[in-house]
Amino acid sequence: MARTMSAAEMLDHLAREFEKARAPHCTTCRVPRTFWGPAPGPGAAGYWYMEQPGKCERGCRQVLTGLWARLTTDYVIAPPPRDVPVSRFSHVR
Ligand SMILES: [Zn+2]
Repeated sequence: MARTMSAAEMLDHLAREFEKARAPHCTTCRVPRTFWGPAPGPGAAGYWYMEQPGKCERGCRQVLTGLWARLTTDYVIAPPPRDVPVSRFSHVR
C-alpha cells in the first residue's frame, strides 16, 4: 500500500530531489507546475499531473520525468485542499 503524501509534501519532495539530481551546471531549470486534473481512468476523482519540463541540453527533462514517475508510483498524492486555489501549488520562483 503506497504512502499518502499531501500536495505540499509532494512539491517539497520534488524540489528537493531535483536539487540533488539535476545537472550540476544547469542553472535555468525549475520544477514544472503541477496541476490537479481529471483522472485517467474511471473510479478516481482526480489525479496530479506535471507540466512537460522545458527542454534542457543537460538532461534535466529526463531527470524530472523520472522523478515524477517514481514519486507518483511510490506515493498516493492527496487532492489539493478545497480552500486553497490550485494555482498556489505552482512553482514560480
Ligand atoms: Zn536544465
